[in-house]
Amino acid sequence: EYSVVLSNVTKIFDDSFTAVDNVSLTIEQGEFFSLLGPSGCGKTTILRMIAGFEDPTFGNITLNGKNIIGTPPNEREVNTVFQNYALFPHLNVFENIAFSLRLRREPEDQVRRKVKEMIELTRLNGHVEKMPSQLSGGQKQRVAIARALVGRPTVLLLDEPLAALDAKLRQHMLVELDTIHDEVGITFIYVTHDQSEAMSISDHVAVMNEGEIIQLGTPFEVYESPVNAFVANFIGETNFFTGNVVKVEDEYFLLDTEKFGEIWFYKDMEVIEGQEIQVSLRPEKVKVTRDMPVAPEGVKLNVLKGVVDETIYLGNQTKYTVAIGQSYLKAFKQHVRYLFDEVIITWKDDVYVWWFADDS
Ligand code: ADP
Ligand code: MG
Repeated sequence: EYSVVLSNVTKIFDDSFTAVDNVSLTIEQGEFFSLLGPSGCGKTTILRMIAGFEDPTFGNITLNGKNIIGTPPNEREVNTVFQNYALFPHLNVFENIAFSLRLRREPEDQVRRKVKEMIELTRLNGHVEKMPSQLSGGQKQRVAIARALVGRPTVLLLDEPLAALDAKLRQHMLVELDTIHDEVGITFIYVTHDQSEAMSISDHVAVMNEGEIIQLGTPFEVYESPVNAFVANFIGETNFFTGNVVKVEDEYFLLDTEKFGEIWFYKDMEVIEGQEIQVSLRPEKVKVTRDMPVAPEGVKLNVLKGVVDETIYLGNQTKYTVAIGQSYLKAFKQHVRYLFDEVIITWKDDVYVWWFADDS
């Protein structure tokens, strides 16, 4: 069952600036869905249109199968958690959470029961009497989540809710959000510019740039099979090879790359000579050794000779930057004490992705 569907949604501000450009999205009931992209790419504008604070210039939005364009925000079964929490400073935790129920004049015993449930869910026991100024960042965030969930929306929108927290706490709140999502079972639409946040928590991710959705998929799909250089670069780190096809064989094609000379790539799609191609090779897929590798029969193994230029030891991995001629290649692997100075770079032929350069 579909929860939120955007069909060809465009938002143009001031008759001139296209902030959201023909976006179509289908978000399933109960999933954790993320909009991921750099600052200014239109994420908040999409949330505001789903919430009803903005109308699309073109296109349509449905919630649980019903067209919601024109429905005022308070009549949509949608609620939002904002980055800055937006708590009422003069109300204590209990009354902040109870606010929307009181507006609706729900009976007192019902208010108490629902607020108590939210306090349990967000682990705010022991803090109900406190004022917002007496709370830590993480606690304020939990109050904001409790307040947004207390009216039982069918969709919760979260706009960079963890951006104001430090890294350790952010990691902790992510786990809590995941638990809360599992417990309430409603659709979460999460906005972030942080790829590791989106990767670790989402069922599906829409990667955005300049108002458009560039790729939609599971975290695994967008990391392992990016559709173009933007996605490959935005989701994690990578090495690019760009060049023209100079030879095509049965299983391989030869690319004359700008940075590393002629390199063979496995041909899992038809290519013809002269086409411009871009390849993304993740640093953790690159092998750095001292010994000359032996290619299995029939395999065209690329072997590049380089010099270790930089070693960043991080404990769980080491980031090597290897100079190959005038160019550099990144390789991430567990630390090896004898890897310095002259090394050999190689990789298997099923560990990279490539696309035609004019697809980017
Ligand atoms: P994000 O949340 O991804 O950082 P936003 O959706 O906030 O991006 O903004 C997308 C673009 O639209 C930005 O360039 C922003 O300046 C512009 N924008 C947002 N709201 C308005 C508005 N009310 N009027 C004019 N431009 C706006
Ligand atoms: Mg934003």
